[in-house]
Amino acid sequence: MFEEQISGAKIRQKFIDFFEEHGHTFVPSSSLVPGGDQTLLFTNAGMVQFKDVFLGADKRPYTRAANSQKCMRVAGKHNDLDDVGRNDTHHTFFEMLGNWSFGDYYKKEAIEWAWVLLTDVWGLPKDRLWATCFEDEKGEIERDDEAVNYWVKQPGFDSSQVLFFGRKDNFWEMAETGPSGPNSEIHLDLGPGICVHEHDPSHQCQVNLDGCTRYLELWNLVFMQYNRTGPSTLEPLPAKHVDTGLGLERVALVLQGVDSNYKTDLLSPIMDTVQQLTGHNEEQRAANITPYRVITDHARAAAFLIADGVVPGNTGRNYVSRMIIRRAARFGSLMGLDEPFLAQVAQSVIDNYGDFFRELDRNRDAIIDNLNREEVRFQKTVEAGVSKLDNLLDQTKADGNQSMPGETAFDLYATYGLPLEITRDIARERDISVDDESFHQAMEQHRIASGAGDVFGVHGEDDIEFYQSLISDLVSQDAVDSKGVMYDPYDNYEVKGKVLALVRDGELIEKANPGDQVEVILPATPFYIEAGGQVADVGQITSMESNGWEINVTDMRQPISGVIVHIGEVVSGAPSTGDSALAGVDIQRRQDIMRNHTATHLLHAELQKVLGNHARQAGSLVAPDRLRFDFTHPEALTTEQLQAVEAGVNHHIYDNYALDIVIKPLQEAIDDGAMALFGEKYAEKVRTISIGGEQRFSYELCGGTHVAETAEIGTFLITSESSVGAGLRRIEAVSGRKAYDLVQQRFMLLERTAGILDTNVDQVAEKGQAILDQLTDARKQIESLRRDVTSQDFEQLLENVPQIEDTPVLITKLPGADAETLREMTDRFRERFPSSVILLASVSNDRPLLVAAITKDLVERGLLAGELVKYAAQPIGGSGGGRPTLAQAGGKDPEQLDQALAKAQEWVEHKLTAS
Ligand SMILES: [Zn+2]
Ligand SMILES: [Zn+2]
Repeated sequence: MFEEQISGAKIRQKFIDFFEEHGHTFVPSSSLVPGGDQTLLFTNAGMVQFKDVFLGADKRPYTRAANSQKCMRVAGKHNDLDDVGRNDTHHTFFEMLGNWSFGDYYKKEAIEWAWVLLTDVWGLPKDRLWATCFEDEKGEIERDDEAVNYWVKQPGFDSSQVLFFGRKDNFWEMAETGPSGPNSEIHLDLGPGICVHEHDPSHQCQVNLDGCTRYLELWNLVFMQYNRTGPSTLEPLPAKHVDTGLGLERVALVLQGVDSNYKTDLLSPIMDTVQQLTGHNEEQRAANITPYRVITDHARAAAFLIADGVVPGNTGRNYVSRMIIRRAARFGSLMGLDEPFLAQVAQSVIDNYGDFFRELDRNRDAIIDNLNREEVRFQKTVEAGVSKLDNLLDQTKADGNQSMPGETAFDLYATYGLPLEITRDIARERDISVDDESFHQAMEQHRIASGAGDVFGVHGEDDIEFYQSLISDLVSQDAVDSKGVMYDPYDNYEVKGKVLALVRDGELIEKANPGDQVEVILPATPFYIEAGGQVADVGQITSMESNGWEINVTDMRQPISGVIVHIGEVVSGAPSTGDSALAGVDIQRRQDIMRNHTATHLLHAELQKVLGNHARQAGSLVAPDRLRFDFTHPEALTTEQLQAVEAGVNHHIYDNYALDIVIKPLQEAIDDGAMALFGEKYAEKVRTISIGGEQRFSYELCGGTHVAETAEIGTFLITSESSVGAGLRRIEAVSGRKAYDLVQQRFMLLERTAGILDTNVDQVAEKGQAILDQLTDARKQIESLRRDVTSQDFEQLLENVPQIEDTPVLITKLPGADAETLREMTDRFRERFPSSVILLASVSNDRPLLVAAITKDLVERGLLAGELVKYAAQPIGGSGGGRPTLAQAGGKDPEQLDQALAKAQEWVEHKLTAS
């Protein structure tokens, strides 16, 4: 169909160039971890990073954007995972090209540019392109004749190739309420001979027909023109938007003239790497096409996930990372790849994608490490898990069932690390299904039982609407400028201004009373809003009028972009809207926070220096009294490593570097190597913090508040290091005043200890050791004396040993003797009496103890020492055993020792008289 082949990378670049030429700003792909959206597991479409823009809660400096977005789809209503590997088109990870208009151009341009790019630039045959437009099957929403009109005007477009479809195919909605509108899809006719159902008389090839593979959906253009406010109410949106999506893999398939995504140059080098590893010839490769496709797809997804910080783990996103790695590993083992091999496959992913997605190259080590470690971990348990599963499947078949309960599958995961998806793969090979729903229920119960809660915002959509209307009122009254409340926590600790609004229980009030919980809006604020791990400021808002009220601010929040709310309690007086006020941050607390925040950056840099670049931030808390820092690292830090990190941070403090804080474009900062965090949403212009002058050992994107020079931190001390999950460590530390407090407390403790030990502070360790040594010697002496005493007591007992049926039998207590002494005594007894029975009891360390010995001749007559102690130990709640000639038992209840002796007596009498 085409003269020369265009590479996937060039297709992507051409798309971006084309839209840049048409006034679009290139916006890099956002992370696979959606920033600030707790409801979504992964970024699954290009629009995720623009959602707040469409909802009116965020503004961008551009109105036209183009990008290539990394997407992951593994769960939800289209659970694609079962299909991945079994066909040529489904992927867990894929790239979505898109162009966007935020209240700028609309249908005319969107349709025209899509047509020009597909036909003029990429040369697709015009007569094979079909367009679908919206026509409501219920007749409630207007037909999209506007789009049709533009389609038929495109040069060379066959107007009979416009088709109408209803809500399922051609009406898009963000959610049950919110932006929505018709969409228009472009389909390509791949021609006769393509469809697998072509010779089925009941099948007539057509666009949007399930199972028909002749028509390929290429590009979806969404036109947001309504705001859905209820099930049957649509209101026009004040500003109309465009959101389009064009799957890169699909365009590559078409433009490269191949019949499988895996044959495009996006994926074929990865397939080839798998072939090198297996050593297969072409025939063998074709016979194993499913494992090849699974490994290729999953290795690509895993590399991108790990590069975005999603390392293998047990819950949520981390579970998905683990699951796809393990699923790929299992498909590898089906082809004899038993050693860890995915890292080598991932290398070819990085080589193939690293030029455009630089994070892959930057995180090469982390990707390889995590893959290797996860494969090794899986190998340890997989064999046991699979054989257990085989047994369960045999049982299921034998019971005549076709389905396995989800709880059983969860047990396999919890015990053997066998993810549901692998269990399902194996079960499916034997025609047995697995109940997904009960698997997830079991997992959820486990999650709740293990204490991991849900995190969802407490404020709903009403809140957004309330503040949207409030801010537009304030803007129209010129009380604030169009950007909303001025936020400047960086330059001042206090600000003066009029109270613009008071909110109580979600409603505007004119006047508040003492004791009221209120939200206060001022034209500007110096209070920091919790972000990037740094907690919010607290402080006071006080009246500058004669009415003298005071509000104690305990928290801050930002319900929508441009609105900043002080949350607090009226402690005195009656504040009114319009009063002049002074808002002041609790300065000492804030300075403690700033010390901890800058110390956090130094700690991050030192961890990377000491442990390596894989040690990256995974979570952080910057509070006034401490800092907590979670990072990726496979094992506990050694004492030497901890000391090196702590010393490194303190040296940077003494060197007193001035912090260099610069605002620059996001892409520029990333290109210079600034460290960005996962799951954080960054604006176009970012604040960068660098420390270290020329050497710049720390360089991070950060909106937090910092000290001006590192010496202000004072001292930095690590207080703990621990594990917070597979591959994740946590350091807690203090700085500044808290570090001083800690040192002082430790000194006092040391002095008190020195006082108790009757020495000076410098000699505490030696003195302590000396006292311990003395104690050990004294204990040994006591022990030896006790044995002597026991031994003498025992000798006396031997003078007068009772006999049963002419056999010497000694059953008695030797208080305080340990097990070893008791055994020694029984040896001595048997030497003295070559045909005899002895049972000795004692209480040692509060535990009752029995030792019994029976000479060989009596053992031959059926008297077994093991039986004797077992019988005798019943009253003391114990059990035991040993050889026939010597046995021992412990117990719980020393009070019942006499009972035990009576039992022993009874047993021996019975045995000797009976035999
Ligand atoms: Zn067909
Ligand atoms: Zn920071």
